[in-house]
Amino acid sequence: MQIISTIQELVYARTQWSGPIGFVPTMGYLHEGHLALYRQARTENKTLVGSIFVNPIQFAPHEDLNRYPRNLAHDLSTLESLGVDVVFTPSVAEMYPSGFTTYVVPEGPLATQAEGATRPNHFRGVATVVLKLFQLVRPDTVYFGQKDAQQTAVITRMIQDFNLPIALHALPTIREDDGLAMSSRNSYLTVSQRHAATVLYQALQTGRLAIEADPHSHPEEIVQTMKNVLARESEIRLDYIEIRDANTFLTLETLQPPALLLIAAWIGKTRLIDNFVLQANGTWNTGQFTEHAASHM
Ligand code: AMP
Repeated sequence: MQIISTIQELVYARTQWSGPIGFVPTMGYLHEGHLALYRQARTENKTLVGSIFVNPIQFAPHEDLNRYPRNLAHDLSTLESLGVDVVFTPSVAEMYPSGFTTYVVPEGPLATQAEGATRPNHFRGVATVVLKLFQLVRPDTVYFGQKDAQQTAVITRMIQDFNLPIALHALPTIREDDGLAMSSRNSYLTVSQRHAATVLYQALQTGRLAIEADPHSHPEEIVQTMKNVLARESEIRLDYIEIRDANTFLTLETLQPPALLLIAAWIGKTRLIDNFVLQANGTWNTGQFTEHAASHM
């Protein structure tokens, strides 16, 4: 496995690769959710490229950039064991040298509602770094997680808007045994917070069951039912529970698929997000349970 930390080296290395080229960008501290993306990408590509970069411009000043978990040595050995060919691990100065000026700013409900409302410059940071990485790696196929549904939708839209010759594969959310969506940020949780965190999944399940019981119920009723579940857990502070169109992120007046049940909540200083998808064909994508142990336990 080749580990590359400069753009100059990456641009040269790119001339040597044979296609198809698959790419999985991450912020590291890898868990089974990330690994599922790499495993799938490995089966579909000749050259598999990963990146590990904690992107400062997608964090607001008050957010967790400085304490975001990192373990590069562990991540690299994990990626090597999965058969990844190349890992790009640039420094912040390499990605954003002084004088850096140009940003990709997604607009409209897709980027300004839900996560975009709580984190105003977040998708500007995400789209900018992802476009830079796409330009450098020039992959045929990229792999993103349903866990970050809005991020995946923003990147899908950016690919269309900028006519990038890239296929995006969105893969299901990988969950712990009790349903908690895997996240690098789960490592922040104390034992009691970790226990409380399963209520996000329980609220999503309750929403799904309520919709199955009455597909004509009003989205507001479903949201209220889900809020009631979350309120049972005193350690949790709700940011939002919403039901939105899965493509546009507009709120839904009626339960029309494809729809997303979205949750964002605080547990102490940790902010977690999760979602279920009611797909266009009427089936649910609620994620998958992993049979593997969490990589950092
Ligand atoms: P991150 O390192 O958190 O920026 O995530 C990198 C990629 O992994 C993104 O495409 C995420 O959506 C995806 N990802 C993170 N957690 C999960 C999960 N539990 N299941 C599936 N994909 C995930």
